[in-house]
Amino acid sequence: MGRIFLQGANLIDGLHAPRKNHTVVIEGERISAVAADHEAPAPSANDTVFDLGGRSLMPGMVQCHYHVAYDNVRDLFDLDMRHPPTYLTLVAARNAKLLLQCGFTGAVGAGTLHNIDVTLKRAIENGLIEGPRFLACGRDVVTTGDSVDFHPSWWKLGMEGLGLICDGPDEFRKAVRDEIKQGVEIIKLYPTGGHGLTWPADIMTMTQEELNAAADAAHERGKKIRGHIVSKRGILAGLDAGLDVIDHCDMMDEVCIERLARQGTFVVPSLYFPYMMVEQKRRTGKAAFPGVEEMERGLEMSYRMLPKAQAAGVKLLVGDDFGTAAMPHGDYAKELEAYVNGAGISALEVIGWATRNGAELLGMKDDLGTIEAGKLADLLVVNGDPSADITLLQDRANLSVVMKGGAFVTCELSPATAAAQAA
Ligand SMILES: [Zn+2]
Repeated sequence: MGRIFLQGANLIDGLHAPRKNHTVVIEGERISAVAADHEAPAPSANDTVFDLGGRSLMPGMVQCHYHVAYDNVRDLFDLDMRHPPTYLTLVAARNAKLLLQCGFTGAVGAGTLHNIDVTLKRAIENGLIEGPRFLACGRDVVTTGDSVDFHPSWWKLGMEGLGLICDGPDEFRKAVRDEIKQGVEIIKLYPTGGHGLTWPADIMTMTQEELNAAADAAHERGKKIRGHIVSKRGILAGLDAGLDVIDHCDMMDEVCIERLARQGTFVVPSLYFPYMMVEQKRRTGKAAFPGVEEMERGLEMSYRMLPKAQAAGVKLLVGDDFGTAAMPHGDYAKELEAYVNGAGISALEVIGWATRNGAELLGMKDDLGTIEAGKLADLLVVNGDPSADITLLQDRANLSVVMKGGAFVTCELSPATAAAQAA
């Protein structure tokens, strides 16, 4: 089988500043060469050559807070009461394909039900459906009365909903082991309220002993664990337990930043929803709902802290609650704008969160996340330069190529023949 040549690229490789007139050669599922056009190997008659004409070439992105089975969620009951498992699995399969088409060649689950992440991962790996490389999450492992324990007791449901209810370290340990038995690779906890939940941010909804037991049970078996955490007290408790990912991290300050950087803990700020609400208020002069003012104060704090976290080397990620009514699936890349326009992080740095850092959370940093010879060819060709305008990534029409493991998911370019290129 011939090689694929992508010539004339504005190369955003994740290692250097963008470089014009570069060639990337793909052989099978991997990149075999990266060089300036005039130094690249010559294509032979068997090879397929594409001239990118100055379009940008960057690594595939990784959605690191992914709810593949959220479907137009308007209230808590929509999370697990509306659809039967079989229908919801088909919805999730559609979403997984859409994510890939939007340029996200990797995803890390942040809570699902009916073991859908594990099932989808298997179907994707077996070639049954199209979707991203996937780190599978399971149910939300929470305490009695937590925000995710929302079914009224008198309903006496007995169903396996989104929440897996545990109390005390022993029950958490057992629940985590049971999730791992089902194939889950990253466990989701809810140590605090806030960031849209029923309980406020400063309420701890897990004890330190429960957190430690859950984290130890995951790590003993080589799995990862993440937590929805908003308050400073919660962030420090999560750091003490050794969580791998802190989701949201709204009240992160300098003390938290120093420890997050030192421990190498990943952070998913997921600022898209508050960014969208505050921008709308600034544009129209009207708040969409009464909580927007408070949201704005929290957002300002995040805008101040994120550049400090970036400078300190905290491993920041992209990902948010897409699949809710306000944030439909397909809008994934809109989140990136919040960090550039709101927090003043450079577009190139945010691309690094979405690619290099995401690959590391997937556990694939030696295989993905940058464009280098030997790595897997998960690549995007973007019309224009997303390191100059991050919003280009929001429109799928700008993605003329999406490639996963050397295979085209999307290809809007016509190849030039090898002979014509060689002439
Ligand atoms: Zn979420």
